[in-house]
Amino acid sequence: MQAPQPSSPARRPLVRLDGVQKHFGALHVLKDVDLTVAAGEVVVVIGPSGSGKSTLCRTINRLETVDAGRITIDGADLPSEGKDLARLRADVGMVFQSFNLFAHKTVKQNVTLGPVKVRGVSAAEAGRRADALLERVGVASQADKYPAQLSGGQQQRVAIARALAMEPKVMLFDEPTSALDPEMINEVLDVMTGLAREGMTMVVVTHEMGFARRAADRVVFMADGRILEDTDPETFFTAPEHARAQDFLSKIL
Ligand code: ADP
Ligand code: MG
Repeated sequence: MQAPQPSSPARRPLVRLDGVQKHFGALHVLKDVDLTVAAGEVVVVIGPSGSGKSTLCRTINRLETVDAGRITIDGADLPSEGKDLARLRADVGMVFQSFNLFAHKTVKQNVTLGPVKVRGVSAAEAGRRADALLERVGVASQADKYPAQLSGGQQQRVAIARALAMEPKVMLFDEPTSALDPEMINEVLDVMTGLAREGMTMVVVTHEMGFARRAADRVVFMADGRILEDTDPETFFTAPEHARAQDFLSKIL
């Protein structure tokens, strides 16, 4: 493995969580979570259902607030509202399990809308960028259709293109293939693997262990709101330290 190079700007911490605590009422969902994701790093987050993985992702682009601790993106604290918040959500692209495309916009409009509204890109430039991105994720021929006319795998690739159109600093994926029929999973994972190879900074919640082995620089294992392991994939899959991780792996591998 490549040694970390703290002095190199390419390895600067892009996402940083320090002592993050989150409750939903009496439920303590994130317990003193520390996590740093360097520029260009791919971190796969795994763990049992209910362990706080989605909440972790959602705090990073402030879809959820935190009760304590600090989160920074590229050194800056998360903004709380207004234009700064819209820019944060552009900088931190998110892809959900359920696609979340705008149903009443065409595929291409889904991809051009954000850059025009949030980044101030011209319509012509946004259109050119959308064409290139739709080509890249393999759905160029669907540009003028509506999301409901596409397969789940195609919709999810459009969702990825839409996030990329904002030129994000980091991409968050929350179980992006969990709602897909099995034959569509790889077409989405292939796009993600390509992004990882090109150096995109990524946080990926997934149960796709093949993807984790192939693409992850680090695997983070969460259980009950805590990060129990944060290590390289080889170590995680061959010699996980915690019994909870061993148990989890024995059930899914
Ligand atoms: P995971 O993604 O690992 O399955 P989540 O982050 O979705 O876990 O959820 C962690 C815990 O927080 C679960 O017990 C879940 O039921 C609870 N939870 C998540 N979102 C909310 C919410 N908006 N209100 C109340 N409880 C929530
Ligand atoms: Mg979840």
